Amino acid sequence: MRGDSETPVTRMSFLPNSLERYLAVLLSASSIVKCTKMTAYRKASLPLDFIVIGGSTAGLACAYSLQVAGHNVRVLEKADGAYTNVAGGVRSPPNMTRILNRWGLQPYLDVVAHKSRGISFKLTGTGETIGTSLFHDAIMRSLGADYMFIKFSDLHAALKDMALSAGAVIQYNSTVVSVDPQNASVRLEGGEVLRGDIIIAADGFRSFVRPLVADCIPGKSFTANLLCESNTSIPAEKALRNESLRRLLANPEFSIWMGDGHTVWGHPVGGGSYAMGVVWPTALDIFSDHYKDEVSVEAIDFNVAELHSSVQELLSLVEPLRPTLYVPYKPLENLVHESGKVILVGHAAHPLPPNGTQNHAIVIEDAAVLGNLFSHLTSQEEISALVAAFEEIRLPRSADVVKSEIGKIEAVAIPLGPNQAARADGVSTALSIPLTSWDDDIQDNLRAEWEELIRMFDYDADEVAEDWWVKWGCILQRAEAVDCSTEEAIITVTQERSG
Ligand SMILES: Cc1cc2nc3c(=O)[nH]c(=O)nc-3n(C[C@H](O)[C@H](O)[C@H](O)COP(=O)(O)OP(=O)(O)OC[C@H]3O[C@@H](n4cnc5c(N)ncnc54)[C@H](O)[C@@H]3O)c2cc1C
Repeated sequence: MRGDSETPVTRMSFLPNSLERYLAVLLSASSIVKCTKMTAYRKASLPLDFIVIGGSTAGLACAYSLQVAGHNVRVLEKADGAYTNVAGGVRSPPNMTRILNRWGLQPYLDVVAHKSRGISFKLTGTGETIGTSLFHDAIMRSLGADYMFIKFSDLHAALKDMALSAGAVIQYNSTVVSVDPQNASVRLEGGEVLRGDIIIAADGFRSFVRPLVADCIPGKSFTANLLCESNTSIPAEKALRNESLRRLLANPEFSIWMGDGHTVWGHPVGGGSYAMGVVWPTALDIFSDHYKDEVSVEAIDFNVAELHSSVQELLSLVEPLRPTLYVPYKPLENLVHESGKVILVGHAAHPLPPNGTQNHAIVIEDAAVLGNLFSHLTSQEEISALVAAFEEIRLPRSADVVKSEIGKIEAVAIPLGPNQAARADGVSTALSIPLTSWDDDIQDNLRAEWEELIRMFDYDADEVAEDWWVKWGCILQRAEAVDCSTEEAIITVTQERSG
């Protein structure tokens, strides 16, 4: 299956203009490739052919981690691969940044991303800031990685570069129309059939592969049945001309404006742009999931007029509005097809609202776990155990992250009323006490928030995969050795008897 990409891609040809500029000024030309080479992954002694459906964050990250683990990866992506004009922003919490750093991306992130100093809570109705939760150095040092803001297009370019440099093949304009789980084969639009050893379904929130693997059970405890999120940004030229935006750009923090059943958020991204998003319950069914359709403010059922003029002003500068629909459902009960040959990853596996803090992190974690586990592969017999290990490791983490992310949206989008007033009071009281170390005497409600944040941030996907291997890998390999010697013994005994 190994071969050249059908759409020839040179390393610099796909870099967005801004990235090219940063690289030209601040990095040596081959820095990303050099970084990629720094990654010290084990190589599997039995290389497998992986077919990855979807070439966004999950597909590219898995392509990289599996390829450096010694396997052959072909990514099939239905889009044309031109993501350079995608305007949105991505949050990279410490659990994601830690993996990206290990993959050698730290020098790149230092250039294209912003380190966040904390989270600032504001009100959409008045525009006022009610409190800021700072990420203190001592806490971040103990987490071993920063909370970063990065442009989607910059992250995408880096992952693509890494996957290609590692030797993965990326095929654009290739829509997969069906999957045969028993034979690990896929059919492309146009009729071509490709066969591998394992299929990785990284085809996003509306995955067409998911129903083959798991039931989607509608979620219940949520503020709305349909939630829309528009993630976009204010371009640098506009942002730098605006006084309040210049202040927001100078203080890289995640701003959350809490409103009446909705929330608005914003943070700086590379090159002087400011990413913004709006989350609101919707009754409309006009939104897609491919982050490409532009929708006018007049066409959506979100009343911008109820926001304070300062928030309205910021939203009037964003371009363009590309809303994404979220339909809540419960965390999946399995991630692997019963054949053991189809694995769900990314948002095909984790039903998260779009653009959340852990959206990309959970995807990068999937890739780290897959690459880590499959770097141990030495025999066909181990494949089913490694596939099962992926599911065993990722299911509880997925449930934890989905619950936390939905809880966060619910907490900041409480409808007007006594609960909202109590929340605002609680936040401002709790955040009036500066938290400089974990031992500080913080209020109980803030401690609960921090405990959850730290549980999310502290999770180390590589470590969890390594722990699994330390616990089960030796048993697995010993069992194989025992099986072999038992087989040998049986043959010897049979020969002795017949002799
Ligand atoms: C163009 C684009 C822009 C985005 N911008 C942002 C952003 O600014 N901020 C943010 O937080 N999140 C953004 N996201 C979403 C973000 O990538 C996801 O929320 C999350 O990281 C999960 O990634 P994923 O790879 O699992 O899913 P997705 O990012 O949704 O990717 C799924 C991929 O699978 C491909 N695909 C689907 N079906 C098929 C098929 N049958 N055959 C072949 N390929 C198929 C899709 O074209 C897509 O590229 C964007 C996604 C896309 C596709």
